[in-house]
Amino acid sequence: MSNIYKLSWESVFEGLEVIDKKGVRVFGVPRGGMIAAGFLKHATNVHTPEIADIILDDIVDSGRTRDYYKKNFPNTDFVALVDKTTIDKDLGWVVFPWERDEEASAEDICMRLLQYIGEDPFREGLQETPKRFLKAWQYWTSGYKQNPAELLKVFEDGAENYDQMVVVKDIPIFSHCEHHLAAIFGVAHIGYIPNGKILGLSKLARLADMYARRLQVQERLTNQIADALETHLQPLGVAVVIRARHFCMESRGVQKFGSETVSSAMRGVLLTKPETRAEFMTLIK
Ligand code: ZN
Repeated sequence: MSNIYKLSWESVFEGLEVIDKKGVRVFGVPRGGMIAAGFLKHATNVHTPEIADIILDDIVDSGRTRDYYKKNFPNTDFVALVDKTTIDKDLGWVVFPWERDEEASAEDICMRLLQYIGEDPFREGLQETPKRFLKAWQYWTSGYKQNPAELLKVFEDGAENYDQMVVVKDIPIFSHCEHHLAAIFGVAHIGYIPNGKILGLSKLARLADMYARRLQVQERLTNQIADALETHLQPLGVAVVIRARHFCMESRGVQKFGSETVSSAMRGVLLTKPETRAEFMTLIK
């Protein structure tokens, strides 16, 4: 989870103070801006931006909402309590005091999603879904909390004279595409030629897991595994091949059911020597 910034009531009131004047008409942008506008003591809440002096929002995230209002109401001031496009860009995930906590507000997002797709989030089968959904996504994205330097503890003993290719085939890959948050699944084949340092074999699978449990595109996933091995192991060569299926493509687009995407990343002698690369390709067949 990214860093969380809990906004206090004090800073909310401080932010509102500058606009909270008698005779000022404020339109709160649904939904967050409306909640913020509800705490104004002196200004007047109006329910349409046409007659407002100030348009108020709780947070500017991408800036899309602000751009919309600025375009349509160029003569009306737009005010936000938090602006992530400028001064507050490093705050991380902002939780307002009227949101219970980050867990609850993430659950709300899931509830909204269920409503958006036409479901009733209160029917029996869906009551625990937001909680389960968050838990599952925490697992599927747990790779963000790991780093390769910690994972790749290297053995130097007994590896001095070992210069043969080490290959682990068919490592299961479960990831999600960053464009649709849809499943990517398949297998990875990883090989390297040591240069005095070797890894425990299970580490290759765990390295693949670490990067798979993030939002990915297959090419980057492949490169990240290869780059981590190259950086932390300094081997003579590295090869990574991933064959994967993408739910977003197979279920909707032109791609046929069962079609695989193959990606590869070669480093060192596995890139420069065709016969070494051919040996790897034979081993993973
Ligand atoms: Zn996708």
